[in-house]
Amino acid sequence: MPTKLHKNPTIYTLATDLGLKVTTDPVTAIKDHCHRQIKRFLKEFSHCTTLSGLLDLAAQKLGTTFREIHSDADLVQLTQEYADRGETCAALFNSELTDDVYGVTFKLLRPGKFDLPYISLIDCRGSKKQRCYFTKWHELGHLLILTDQRRLSFKRTHALHELKSPEESMVDVIAGEFAYYAPMVRPYAKGSLTFDAIDAARTALCPEGSYHSALIGLVNVWPTPCVLVEAKWAGKKSSSPGQYFSSFALRAVSVLVNDAARQHGIQLHKNFRVPERSVIHSVFTESLAEGTGVEDLCWWESSDGTRLEKREIRVSAKRIGDTIHALLIPR
Ligand SMILES: [Zn+2]
Repeated sequence: MPTKLHKNPTIYTLATDLGLKVTTDPVTAIKDHCHRQIKRFLKEFSHCTTLSGLLDLAAQKLGTTFREIHSDADLVQLTQEYADRGETCAALFNSELTDDVYGVTFKLLRPGKFDLPYISLIDCRGSKKQRCYFTKWHELGHLLILTDQRRLSFKRTHALHELKSPEESMVDVIAGEFAYYAPMVRPYAKGSLTFDAIDAARTALCPEGSYHSALIGLVNVWPTPCVLVEAKWAGKKSSSPGQYFSSFALRAVSVLVNDAARQHGIQLHKNFRVPERSVIHSVFTESLAEGTGVEDLCWWESSDGTRLEKREIRVSAKRIGDTIHALLIPR
């Protein structure tokens, strides 16, 4: 995503509106601008050492109060509460939280003496609950990139039908930077990367993030090389209709190669078939809860027969529902 985003004129304008010196890459300039703010908050509150603490601190410093909505009744009650306070934005609460919108931030017209200037509604109804932690960071992302001029005219973060706008993508990139903020994860990432280590880091740093987002977020910033694979029984989408059903196999439906692994030249691509001799395959076919094994990356083969380079890896596989999650760690 960032590769296209850094060439986008809207993002370039945003960076210059923020007073940033942009040479070639406005995405990096904007990310650095956000990092400087977060570092400043942390310098002031040095006792903040967890991701949950950082979320609360950033919300406080950026001036917003999160209000979680867990049911339709919560939304009705919140709408009434803000309507009673004379906030005209209350009339928009229901219409703004459409199916695709997970959160929205409004500037209050008449905040009370002890109120922060904004409120961020976080939709936690149904499956949206899974993303609630990330949604909070997304809303903070909007506030991290408000220019002085926009701060004055700011009403709400989402104009309808603008969900896929370049700015929304930029805000997702920012949320990704801080939801699993690398300097905070590092003290928990000293040992080897295992599912237990991820559980421990998640419990200590941010139990409110979903297991799935923690897995991705933590593996991504872990300082040692790792490839995270999610394997499922799936067909090959590029196959012709006749071949589609015969293409079904246990496949890597999502692959994350972390920075450390990329620096070691490790590659693995989405849709590769899981090798039948891999423990990932046994955990799937034998309905096991988990398993580990010492394997080789060259067992993995693309559909055109290209094999990956020979490299010994330790594989841990774990079943979560109908998906097998696996950590591939070079030895
Ligand atoms: Zn947004």
